[in-house]
Amino acid sequence: MNFGLAAHRLHRMGTECTLLRWARVCEPALRQLGITWHATGGAHDTLVVNDLFRGQLMSVGYGRDGGLMRLASRIAGGLTPEAELDGVFFFIDPVNPTSIFPEAQALKRQCVIHGKPFVATFAGAVEWVALELVRAGVGTGPVPMAAQLLALESQVVALIAHDALKEDMVDFAMKHFDTLSRFAGRVATGTTGSRLNAMAWARGWPASQPWVTCYQSGPLGGDSQIAELVLDRRCQKVIFFEDPHVARQHEADIQLLDRAVYSAGDVTTCFNTPAMAGRWAEAVAKSS
Ligand code: PGA
Repeated sequence: MNFGLAAHRLHRMGTECTLLRWARVCEPALRQLGITWHATGGAHDTLVVNDLFRGQLMSVGYGRDGGLMRLASRIAGGLTPEAELDGVFFFIDPVNPTSIFPEAQALKRQCVIHGKPFVATFAGAVEWVALELVRAGVGTGPVPMAAQLLALESQVVALIAHDALKEDMVDFAMKHFDTLSRFAGRVATGTTGSRLNAMAWARGWPASQPWVTCYQSGPLGGDSQIAELVLDRRCQKVIFFEDPHVARQHEADIQLLDRAVYSAGDVTTCFNTPAMAGRWAEAVAKSS
């Protein structure tokens, strides 16, 4: 597998930065998975100086030289088949101005378009590695923090889907109903939530009890309300099926929620596509 790797300055400076904490926790597991990392300049240099990922690392250049642009191209297929990426890990600092540069947004959007993982937080990055080991039949053992991240019974999940993907969300929730029902709580934006409750009641969930707690509809501020839960560490997983093909009038709310996830990145994971969420849910079911 080939993956892109980038980290904002906050996440790659100092001995306890996100990039190094993640690399140390996951390096043995990542060796087993055999991933080659196409890393942007700063992340590449930090790993080289700390002698991590030796033999598994190549540089795509610094930000000013187009590192993120190359990653976006390679998510889309790149210029040669060998350069194609299977996903990207990008540790984002929401107050770093480059987080809203077009290349950063295009990189995420290309991941959504191609259904490839876009992993932007420490919690998400550790969990992804642990669950890929589960898929490989190894189990989560080599990743010490996995049990805590997969303790769904003590977490809350947010379920949100844009109009074109609401059907996919209902299908996803039906297929993985037992896994999603393990969470201590489920929250949703208004319209998505009412579709999910109707589905749950139809399959026998107690009529007196909503399966998900509904906040406002997305365009009326539901994304911001869920973002506040995330900021308070009261929602640890965000499953947000985004429609990348339409101009979105409430783009600011959508980005606000993403950025809240990045702020609470030590404990919060976000899944942006049915492909990514489905892969997560299958592996969670296999791990329990
Ligand atoms: P909705 O909001 O579930 O109320 O449609 C989703 C969104 O657009 O963010």
